[in-house]
Amino acid sequence: MTISSRWSVPIPQCSLQKWVLGSACGPISDHKAFIDPDNHETNYLTMSDYRLLSKRVALGLQKAGLNKGDRVLIFSGNSLLFPSVFLGILMAGGIVTGANPSFVPRELAYQLKDSGASFLFVAEHAVKTAFEAAAEVGLPKDRIFVLGNSTVPVSRLAQSPSPGPGANGRVDGARHWTELLTGNPSQAETWSWEEPSNPEETTCCLNYSSGTTGVPKGVEISHHSYVANGVGVVHINNLRPDAATRQKSERGLAFLPFYHTYGQTYFIANLPHLGIPVYVMPSFDFIKMLSHIQRFRVTTLPVVPPIVVLLAKHPAARQYDLSSVETIGSGAAPLTREVCEEAERLFPAERGLVVRQGWGMTEVTCTAIAWDPTSTVGGSAGVGEVYPNCRARLVALDGKTPVEAPRVTGELWVTGPTLMRRYWNKPEATAETIVVDAEGTRWLRTGDIAFVEEYKPGAIFHVVDRVKELIKVKGNQVAPAELEGVLLDSPDVADAAVVGVTIGGEEVPRAYVVRRPQSAASEKDVAAWMEGKVTRYKRLKGGVVFVDAVPKNPSGKILRKQLRDRAKKEVGDG
Ligand code: AMP
Repeated sequence: MTISSRWSVPIPQCSLQKWVLGSACGPISDHKAFIDPDNHETNYLTMSDYRLLSKRVALGLQKAGLNKGDRVLIFSGNSLLFPSVFLGILMAGGIVTGANPSFVPRELAYQLKDSGASFLFVAEHAVKTAFEAAAEVGLPKDRIFVLGNSTVPVSRLAQSPSPGPGANGRVDGARHWTELLTGNPSQAETWSWEEPSNPEETTCCLNYSSGTTGVPKGVEISHHSYVANGVGVVHINNLRPDAATRQKSERGLAFLPFYHTYGQTYFIANLPHLGIPVYVMPSFDFIKMLSHIQRFRVTTLPVVPPIVVLLAKHPAARQYDLSSVETIGSGAAPLTREVCEEAERLFPAERGLVVRQGWGMTEVTCTAIAWDPTSTVGGSAGVGEVYPNCRARLVALDGKTPVEAPRVTGELWVTGPTLMRRYWNKPEATAETIVVDAEGTRWLRTGDIAFVEEYKPGAIFHVVDRVKELIKVKGNQVAPAELEGVLLDSPDVADAAVVGVTIGGEEVPRAYVVRRPQSAASEKDVAAWMEGKVTRYKRLKGGVVFVDAVPKNPSGKILRKQLRDRAKKEVGDG
């Protein structure tokens, strides 16, 4: 039985940039959109700066040779510039793909190659990695733009005529991003981007995810899906009785990464659309986060579970005035009821602040299950109800039998306008993940196990387990197939399987490895092999175990459940 959302909301047929900024030309609000919390009085972008800078980036990219549908990779932490580069790529007709700035060259080269990116934006500190990766895939250095720090406030750069080319000098053959700002700002003001003729079939982003199986894949999300996701957020936001007055005093703090859909949709799109200013942190720092909340009276906090754990347990959380916080929403990984309640105790009971969990997946743009903010039920009781315009159902693990009884678990399947178009260049993976039913509806098999309390619109979902390969380390995706590939490259390894195990409340990867006959490598040597080949959070913190054989079924598929159960018994939290 399908559970439909209680809310059906119209979705405008337009590009993401139009939804965020309004029309290409004409009046636009002049309130602050993005603010540097360390230089808040001088370094910020207003909404009109945001639109202008995005357009100038777009025009510069078109001049540099970007064609419709070209992929552009952004390899950077958060900055005031990032959102304009993001929207600029879309305005130029390109497709954005974001990569974690902590990636090592091998990981970045994989994404550059898989996406076929023709331009790369890179933060200054990551230039060395970018050069190595670009050389590996044959991307010329003049296709690399360095997002260097500038002593000039970004808003001044947006408005100044032609600071480039070479305004800040070349970086070892790569271009400084200000080279894109050619021409007069007033020309950019009157320029209109070309709206996609069919936003449902125009890809906006390739967000990398391993989905239910295999290596990371480019998830093709359309302009329409991003807009649909945003429309849902706005609808839910407006359910609050005091939404209109409240919006004026709302403030966001962006420490979630902009390369991930969670940070992107929330801070680059939804909050600017709502007119809510965003204080941009370059990366997550708990103490700075607390201090910014206190100083700037931050109201909305989208977080991931490790941050809720810090709020619950870190003594510093009690030393700052967090009274401005009105909503805390957690997603990306499970969170226990106890931790939610402990974090809620930071706030006076009469405020009734609850830590709400939502459920989302890169393949459905971002969120697909969330809480009605007017609900009086505790936020830790489940992940909420089906998102506006979406539908969900539960299916037994045979992939056929519907689950229709309350409190009986099944695999969560979801559908709606936020569903991905497909995996980039991977038709088999797409066909394995998306099931088309007799009515022609495309359903995403999520690989998550859930139950509902009752079958009716508005039913509350509980996510209780995961049957897919994916491991989540502090909210980051780790694909076992990727780590297994790296292990198999080692001269000491004949076979390997990686599974997740929860130790001390955190999921970490653990490898079961068959050594080559002549190898004398120790478990430590095998773990050390990963260094430099994968970023820190993908390392084998759950340990390495030598085995005689990796358990597999007759067709050669790794029996992961067996290994997960074994890992749990050996080192898991029980
Ligand atoms: P990503 O595509 O990186 O957003 O990861 C999506 C996956 O994160 C989901 O399929 C779940 O396995 C997990 N996830 C997201 N939100 C939750 C949640 N509230 N509780 C449990 N798991 C979650």
